[in-house]
Amino acid sequence: MGRYWNEKIECMSREDMKKLQDERLVAQVRHVYDNVAYYRKMMDEKGVKPEDIRGTEDLHKLPFLTKADLREAYPYGLLAKPLSDCVRIQSTSGTTGKRVVAFYTQHDIDLWEDCCARAIVAAGGTRDDVCQVCYGYGLFTGGPGLNGGSHKVGCLTLPMSSGNTERQIQFMMDLQSTILCCTPSYAAYIGETLHDMGYGPDDIKLKAGIFGAEPWTEEMRREIEKLLGIKAYDIYGLTEISGPGVSFECEEQTGMHINEDHFIAEIIDPDTGEVLPEGSKGELVFTSITKEAFPLLRYRTRDICVLTREKCSCGRTLVKMSKPMGRTDDMLIIRGVNVFPSQIESVLLKMSNATPNYQIVVDRLNNSDTFEIMVELNDDMLSDTVKSIEELERKISSDIHSILGIKAKITLVEPKSIPRSEGKAVRVVDKRKLV
Ligand code: ADP
Ligand code: ZN
Repeated sequence: MGRYWNEKIECMSREDMKKLQDERLVAQVRHVYDNVAYYRKMMDEKGVKPEDIRGTEDLHKLPFLTKADLREAYPYGLLAKPLSDCVRIQSTSGTTGKRVVAFYTQHDIDLWEDCCARAIVAAGGTRDDVCQVCYGYGLFTGGPGLNGGSHKVGCLTLPMSSGNTERQIQFMMDLQSTILCCTPSYAAYIGETLHDMGYGPDDIKLKAGIFGAEPWTEEMRREIEKLLGIKAYDIYGLTEISGPGVSFECEEQTGMHINEDHFIAEIIDPDTGEVLPEGSKGELVFTSITKEAFPLLRYRTRDICVLTREKCSCGRTLVKMSKPMGRTDDMLIIRGVNVFPSQIESVLLKMSNATPNYQIVVDRLNNSDTFEIMVELNDDMLSDTVKSIEELERKISSDIHSILGIKAKITLVEPKSIPRSEGKAVRVVDKRKLV
């Protein structure tokens, strides 16, 4: 217990946190209104003045910002500080279309790295740890964010970036890394490579992993924990709001605490924009109340999750968000049914002989959707009889059917035939070209 980077904030009473948020929100709305013509126009059109916002209860009066706004305002349209005050630009990975850029002053970098430091300390990190950062460095926020957080905590930082997996493992062993930071799909790949090289968890010193930047399931978590002999912590963030560390998991592993002194979270109905009560599933919306250069108000993340203020055993009072099950735009509509890749991952990883390597292929044939799931077998299965392989195929097929209500064609493929990811995994190949 007591693993906090900033106990005063992380364990602050609700009343004090509300007061802090109110003050910061009022000042931030004024800052944005005065300095961002794009948003001022949106507020004027909605008939909202900065003085109408007196605290978080007035948040709902503000207009939403979307990724389309960021693309329209690209590159400088949402900047709230002169460029000469900015020290950094980062960019989204472009998973769902044209990349957008975000700007940072030194103050913004500091608060972002501070959030990452909270995540590392929550995962058990101290100045005695060796923290291997294998998120990509560069425009992507993963590497720079965790790198900065690791420095703040005082860990010995290994800025590996992603790729060259055998070298990652060599360094991990030679330099006795204790904390690993990367995407969960890359963590699984590192684990697989470790085993392929003839090693196991006992040959490395890792104790914890901080994995995020893409959706992953509880089943995937257990798989990685087993492969690497660690405790795996989730971390969430997005470039538009700063980067990784917007929220982070504690030892309870039941959702991620949002750094509410910097980011106010709301859940809305993605169709109507209506704010939903605590505990409802909906789209996550963030208002950043401390950033100077790129302060987005009511930014729609398109990530679907649930917020809860239930007491957490770690002692933190920060609101928790559930693992996002995917984004509204990750959701596939197949034969009229909503399908999230994470639902499929859950089914697959419940089978002992499937691996976390799969790909969903959707196409359209004679006006009807085809839905195929390629699932990679593990080496042990190769020696199994055709009958038992057919059995596995049938089991996956019937479990998918019972969860989604539609049938998928299951294709079991040879070990190592699905491309591995060193960053965000590509789980879906949609050939329908509907958009
Ligand atoms: P892009 O939107 O191009 O992928 P980012 O690299 O900024 O750009 O990624 C942010 C997005 O990544 C989030 O909006 C969310 O969809 C996803 N993401 C980040 N962390 C997690 C996580 N821990 N679990 C699920 N999804 C995550
Ligand atoms: Zn907690």
